[in-house]
Amino acid sequence: MIRVSLGLILLLCALVPAARAQQEARDQMVQRQVERRGITTEAVLEAMRQVPRHEFVPQSQASHAYEDRPLPIGYGQTISQPYIVAYMTELVQPDPDDRVLEVGTGSGYQAAVLAEIVDQVYTVEIIPELAATAAQRLDRLGYDAVTVKHADGYYGWEEHAPYDAIVVTAAAEHVPPPLIEQLKDGGRMVIPVGSPFYTQTLMLVEKEGDQVTTRSLTPVRFVPFTRSDDQ
Ligand code: SAH
Repeated sequence: MIRVSLGLILLLCALVPAARAQQEARDQMVQRQVERRGITTEAVLEAMRQVPRHEFVPQSQASHAYEDRPLPIGYGQTISQPYIVAYMTELVQPDPDDRVLEVGTGSGYQAAVLAEIVDQVYTVEIIPELAATAAQRLDRLGYDAVTVKHADGYYGWEEHAPYDAIVVTAAAEHVPPPLIEQLKDGGRMVIPVGSPFYTQTLMLVEKEGDQVTTRSLTPVRFVPFTRSDDQ
């Protein structure tokens, strides 16, 4: 009995300071990388303070989880730089009762950030292993609002459409028409568009009735949007 509780105490002695250090690293990340670059939406800042980014990267990368850069997550893919995640989240102006589609689940981090703000997040990933790992991770961390599917996100996720917001996290050569169709009237989509091998442009697509307006925002670099036939 005594040995068990001593073990537990020792474990807590190790875990509590680690959790505190991670929270501090996150607060600093938000302040220095996100707020300082002009993100002001409080819900977005708070979501970035909450999501344990170190849980979304391979263990070998965990010590870099709060750095100002993308990190490898396996299968040639990356988790985006924290600022870009915050910026894309702010651009779609998520509201608590929104339903959001993400294309490119990767680690599940962007989906978790969205799920801190909105009720329902549907996310699609083309690499089956990444989809499975992200689903398990999100489940373990209690992100019940997120549903992951292995599929080619070019076609969106018709079953749950229309979406208040769509976030695409891989660089497409054009905006997939099915995604525009699945956007709600008054909805917003953010998507990097351009050649996969150069810098792309982050675009904001807004739908008002029959009218679709597209604005180019800023140069970005994302991993390529692949298609099922590329695999
Ligand atoms: N949002 C992710 C980062 C993703 S990197 C995160 O927070 O970790 C981009 C992801 O898009 C990769 O995992 C890649 O496999 C995926 N992807 C590329 N093309 C896709 C497609 N057509 N449909 C769904 N996912 C795609």
